[in-house]
Amino acid sequence: MTAILDLTAAQAAAAIERGDLDPGELFGIYRERAAADELGAWTWVADAAPVAFDVGAPLRGVPLAVKDLFCTEGVPSQAGSRILEGYRPPYTATCVERLQTAGATLLGKTNQDEFAMGSSNENSGFGPVLNPWDRSRVPGGSSGGSAAAVAAGSAPWALGTDTGGSIRQPAALCGIVGLKPTYGTVSRFGMIAFACSLDQAGPLTRDVTDAALLYRHMAGADARDATAVGHPDEIGLPSAERLDGVRLGVPVELAGGEGIEPGVLAAFERSLALARELGATVEEVSLPTADRALSAYYVIAPAECSSNLARFDGVRYGLRVEADDLLTMYTETRHDGFGDEVKRRILIGTYALSSGYYDAYYGRAQRVRTLIARELAAVFERVDAIVTPTSPGVAFELGSKSADPLAMYLNDFFTVPMSLAGVPAISIPCGLADGLPVGLQVAGAAFSENRLLDIAYALEQGLGFDGSPARGGATP
Ligand code: GLN
Repeated sequence: MTAILDLTAAQAAAAIERGDLDPGELFGIYRERAAADELGAWTWVADAAPVAFDVGAPLRGVPLAVKDLFCTEGVPSQAGSRILEGYRPPYTATCVERLQTAGATLLGKTNQDEFAMGSSNENSGFGPVLNPWDRSRVPGGSSGGSAAAVAAGSAPWALGTDTGGSIRQPAALCGIVGLKPTYGTVSRFGMIAFACSLDQAGPLTRDVTDAALLYRHMAGADARDATAVGHPDEIGLPSAERLDGVRLGVPVELAGGEGIEPGVLAAFERSLALARELGATVEEVSLPTADRALSAYYVIAPAECSSNLARFDGVRYGLRVEADDLLTMYTETRHDGFGDEVKRRILIGTYALSSGYYDAYYGRAQRVRTLIARELAAVFERVDAIVTPTSPGVAFELGSKSADPLAMYLNDFFTVPMSLAGVPAISIPCGLADGLPVGLQVAGAAFSENRLLDIAYALEQGLGFDGSPARGGATP
């Protein structure tokens, strides 16, 4: 059983193809682990193995964990919110459907911050998720359940969503790989909306090869999402072990050292040294507006969420608090159904969009967004990718930032600029600080996923990170 758990998803698919592994057995092992999970990572686990496995398909019966934010037909899909209590959608999100067509089987749904708003998974209607490396700490968010499940070995791989860092940051804090693809390469149809101009689905996996494999089968145009254009290239499986000729940029405004924990900075610098040893050149680049990204994001994302979340009023979906008149029913349902962070975002967003304040907040934030996108595009003319730590710190103690929203928002300092620009970025584990994983972010120009995956793969081989302690292996 341990040997099976040691397989990556790609290795498990290959073993099934060779006839060395029975997909029913694989499903059973993971189902048992997911059902016995003590981290709070799962919101729903499949009862039994599917009756038939499509072993001719490329993903050949490999079980898949799916963030609760994705609609899955007949299966609870609440986006981590009490307001969607009891909601079982009549349809499945396009990207989940694509993966099922490719042979993946739905193992269960994973916990998350409510409507993907958060960086610690403490804002969930289902309760927090614990970090498998240290249960007194957060797994990151908002895709914290997906990250914890993959790190702890209760899922071989998982789907997450990233609006401002929600795939990359939990991947970093749990010591796994997370890819936020180029905006528009994966359909958003059936993903419960947070901020439509930023939301993007992507893989959380044990290694870079699995991320490439899962992304390959997620990407694609979709008539049901006008922004989904797919990817112009076939996504390859990375194999380059050297970085000769690769130019990496370190943005001085982001990775200058201020506010970064010393252990994170040390791991980051070791990764840069490794990149040079592998043949890359590393140079400083400048993104003069990037340090305003966080302020712009925390106007734009709440603005979009205040509009998207207007649909939850007790009439059509989920929770309804009965009352004598309609207006009271709306307000009581929203009062009881939404958590504090969601309410805070709706208030901020409504204010930022209100007449008289629109130009000063939303309009200005959009201008900052344009500048950041232009600065990044200019930098990607000079370098193949930029590198930063994924998060300024390692996994923090549960409760330590929940009373201070600004301290929480600072977690997204490195991830938000790429989200605003819609460009792809991957986080890979690059070492430990105080026994906890540190993430390295590699970001590139729009549609440069193949190159990012190659760079990440070469670094991954050189770094030799061991994630087994989170799965109950030897302590580091
Ligand atoms: N932590 C960020 C937020 O709270 C990003 C969330 C996300 O990417 N979904 O908005």
